[in-house]
Amino acid sequence: MNYYSTRNSKLDKKFDEIIIEGLASDGGLYMPKLFPKININELQNNENITYPELASRIISLYVGDTIALKELEGIAQNTYKKFSHDKVAPLLNIDGNKYILELFHGPTYAFKDYPLQMLGNLFQYYLKKKKKNITVIGATSGDTGSAAIDACKDKDNINIFILHPKNKTSDIQRKQMTSIKSKNVFNIAINGTFDDCQNIVKKLFVSESLKSVTTLSAVNSINWARIISQSVYFFWAYLQAKQYDKKINFIIPTGNFGNVYAAHTAGKMGLPINKIYVATNSNDIMHRTISNGDMSLKDVKSTISPSMDIQISSNFERQLFESLEYNSDELSNLMKSFIKNKGYDVKGKIHDNLKLYYKSKGVDDELTSLTIKQFYDTYKYISDPHTATSLNILKELRNDDTNVALACAHPAKFPDAIKNSIGKYPDQPEPLKKIMGEEEKYINLDNDSELVKNYILKNIS
Ligand SMILES: *Cc1c(COP(=O)(O)O)cnc(C)c1O
Repeated sequence: MNYYSTRNSKLDKKFDEIIIEGLASDGGLYMPKLFPKININELQNNENITYPELASRIISLYVGDTIALKELEGIAQNTYKKFSHDKVAPLLNIDGNKYILELFHGPTYAFKDYPLQMLGNLFQYYLKKKKKNITVIGATSGDTGSAAIDACKDKDNINIFILHPKNKTSDIQRKQMTSIKSKNVFNIAINGTFDDCQNIVKKLFVSESLKSVTTLSAVNSINWARIISQSVYFFWAYLQAKQYDKKINFIIPTGNFGNVYAAHTAGKMGLPINKIYVATNSNDIMHRTISNGDMSLKDVKSTISPSMDIQISSNFERQLFESLEYNSDELSNLMKSFIKNKGYDVKGKIHDNLKLYYKSKGVDDELTSLTIKQFYDTYKYISDPHTATSLNILKELRNDDTNVALACAHPAKFPDAIKNSIGKYPDQPEPLKKIMGEEEKYINLDNDSELVKNYILKNIS
């Protein structure tokens, strides 16, 4: 199992190299050269398989000879034992063939714990083996940052720098990051948007002066280890629903297209998915692209689902690469044109290919808020605003398939949106309550990659 980049199909790298690097130096995203198949019947017959067993089984297909299965199993056991639900990712049957897959039972209450706790432990394994240190740099619109920090805090061989857009995350999201006192953790509030943060990170990754003193590593959903760790829970949902005579649909709140591409990856490995429904908020570039090929960039709007306030969805590049039959030259040209013209007209074979797998809908704040209320009134289920974008689609679906909407964050992370919708605050889990009173540690910088670079250089030397 070797890897190339979406912008250079001549590369030939191993799993340990591509997870430590995260983003390829040509600016592209790493991709496996083939998608291994998993035997679904065998999984179905293995009634007692646990989440960590399933995770190591799936991830093992991607690691080549870089780690032994036994070691990987140990890492997966350790990783998911920190999660608070005995099913790790429980599937809730809400109504008929409609289900909610809850992905907020990790240490920071959002789905990103599932891949990032795994990634942190894989980093530790490989870095120890290679006797190497890395600098993790990431941009966050809210949940990635806290999940990454929790996954990397106090780990030898890692320093972590997380950029967030100042005043554009919820208070709880910010405090989950800035209240961590570990000395290998650095929080930076940028005067700008999430896309500004992401652009700075992209520039830092190609900065020779940084790369000459440290190995940089990405934890955003561009890291392939994240995608495969996330593909696990799509299989897990299918196994819990036990509707083996039916196909399954996933409805996914979307920002960077990471979960969507992880679901698609599960499909390529053999999970019988019918369609993936891509839910966006009013930052709807993915909805416009899928529904009518309009991939034009607009200004980022602040919404009540901040982790989806994104215009450039990094992982969509992986899908485009596939839609272009893995032609990295064509993909590089497409991406250049997209950035230069602030948009791209997706048509012909690319759009036909997208329509095979995806449907989409844009759900604005008003509809999101209404959906939170409808699910509370009808089912006494309180969903966070990101989750509600997918529940809005789930509610409308009329089909005989198994329909699974992803619940991406705990409602307590977005108390104001819940209060505005149903008239009361959601219950706070104890650990979250505690965080609100903690002192914060972060610095504030202008939207300038040089300033960030100098700050990093100063703190790693
Ligand atoms: C990160 C995040 C998303 C977006 O997920 P992507 O994989 O980036 O598309 C949606 N909802 C929540 C709560 C998130 O934390």
